[in-house]
Amino acid sequence: MIVRGSSHEAYEPASCPEAIMDRLRGTTFWIFDLDDTLYHPRHGVLDQIRARTREFLSSHLGMQAADADRVRSSYLEKYGTTLAGLMQEDGLQPDSFLEFVHDIDLSALNPDEELIAALTRLPGRKVVFTNGPAVHASRVLSRLGLDAVFDTVFDIAAAGYQPKPALVAFQRFRTAHVFEPEEAAIFDDQTRNLVYPHQIGMSCVLVGATPLKPAEHVHVAVEHPLPLLQLLF
Ligand SMILES: [Mg+2]
Repeated sequence: MIVRGSSHEAYEPASCPEAIMDRLRGTTFWIFDLDDTLYHPRHGVLDQIRARTREFLSSHLGMQAADADRVRSSYLEKYGTTLAGLMQEDGLQPDSFLEFVHDIDLSALNPDEELIAALTRLPGRKVVFTNGPAVHASRVLSRLGLDAVFDTVFDIAAAGYQPKPALVAFQRFRTAHVFEPEEAAIFDDQTRNLVYPHQIGMSCVLVGATPLKPAEHVHVAVEHPLPLLQLLF
């Protein structure tokens, strides 16, 4: 049930199974991840955040560059984000870290009128669910011209600093937003963030990466959400 697209041009949304398209058309609650989902990774936003994270680890925690890289990837793997690892293992307070690593240049992001229109046409509630802080989400959405499109942002503070794919993050999200999983869809660029949504019966769209092998918790894989959204409504 996976529609693969190795490039924006190569993707053929018409080949998406009709059962999934019908299900997506019945969606009344839309959840979108932010970074590398609502804009393309080529804009390098996460590269900047990674560089700022390295800088934070060396300037605030006195790590050498090689150690900073090692710590960053091991925390990412073990805890979902570098921040979660720093809080668990180093007792770090989140605010200074979040402020520092998200102090980046977003000028590469610009409004895409087609994406704005396609997202606006989606019926029902629309929420951004991000592992980043609300201030970063707000800046990104503003650069993309999407701030009026989404009803709200559920950020890392709202998740108790427990990032997706942690179960507690999804539980907090569900407490904050009452919805029927069968009528909900989630778009995210991380396969692991779709495991729990699939378990509870949501429609799961993987954005960006093409999975190396079909994963049952991915209903549709697209390079960019736009062609799929345009085909839906
Ligand atoms: Mg993302």
